[in-house]
Amino acid sequence: MLLTPGKLLILAKWVLTSLPTTVAVDITHRCNLKCLHCYWWKQDHPAELDDGRMIALLKGLRARGLAAAILYGGEPTLRPEVCRAAGEIFDATLAFTNGINGFPELKNVQWILSLDGPQDLNDTIRGAGVYAKALENLKRASQPPIVHMTISRLNQDSLDDFVREMMRLPIKGMGFSFYTPDLTRDESGLFIPLKERDRLIMELLSLRRRYGEKIGFTPAMARQLLTAGDFYQWNRYAACPVSQRVRCFKSNGQPKACTYGDSADCSRCGCAAVAAYRGAFKPFDYPTLRLILGLMVPELRVRKG
Ligand code: SF4
Ligand code: SF4
Repeated sequence: MLLTPGKLLILAKWVLTSLPTTVAVDITHRCNLKCLHCYWWKQDHPAELDDGRMIALLKGLRARGLAAAILYGGEPTLRPEVCRAAGEIFDATLAFTNGINGFPELKNVQWILSLDGPQDLNDTIRGAGVYAKALENLKRASQPPIVHMTISRLNQDSLDDFVREMMRLPIKGMGFSFYTPDLTRDESGLFIPLKERDRLIMELLSLRRRYGEKIGFTPAMARQLLTAGDFYQWNRYAACPVSQRVRCFKSNGQPKACTYGDSADCSRCGCAAVAAYRGAFKPFDYPTLRLILGLMVPELRVRKG
């Protein structure tokens, strides 16, 4: 495993201090899809920063010591120059995409492909033909992407089928979050009540036992999300590591409280990043740390078992 000095510094900062390490930026509010469950494309957004100003924002954040970046949208591939620049500016960059525009090979950028389930279900949610196009691009990618699934009421019954399908593909691994509701909307059709979610968390652990490390969900992460585990220790803004470690920005360069927005419901959070951050260090857990390292080092291969 090759960890550059910059990446080692991020880890050391994480372990030894409580300082922010990471930026999460909506680099665009535009998207080439209109997913059923997404409010993003239905909302009005202020004008986004142009390439020059967005890149200047990223450089400024790096100069303040924030060494890792997560790129969100909208659809980040609609801004290829900003993605390319982020890979050059930061020591580790993750970029979420819907896969329609492919997975450009960019220095230091790990692509994360969002899919919602097997083909029929995915395309019901994301649009006809999206699954086939994303998989066609995935098979051509020079670096295997990670596939990320947000588990909601819409796809909660498809976990087993979806994971089986994904495991046949040249992917680096899979990550899972649970749908986090927003305090300003009625999202009862999407949010899975916490007690019901516990059962799905156990199903994810069973998938990890079956498929090994490619399932990016460890027992320590499960403990952070289970209602009988540590969930109630951090499910409020002041106790969440995102509020301390990650600086989040909108596409117009203005700060926001969380990657999920300013009014995300922390009491019902399903964020995998929180589960991983806390799972790795509270207490120390090597399998979860290894998972985080795998995100920071694109070349790191996963192993079964
Ligand atoms: S790809 Fe992402 S941002 Fe675009 S509509 Fe779908 S969920 Fe929303
Ligand atoms: S919604 Fe989740 S990730 Fe965001 S600040 Fe709240 S607890 Fe943290």
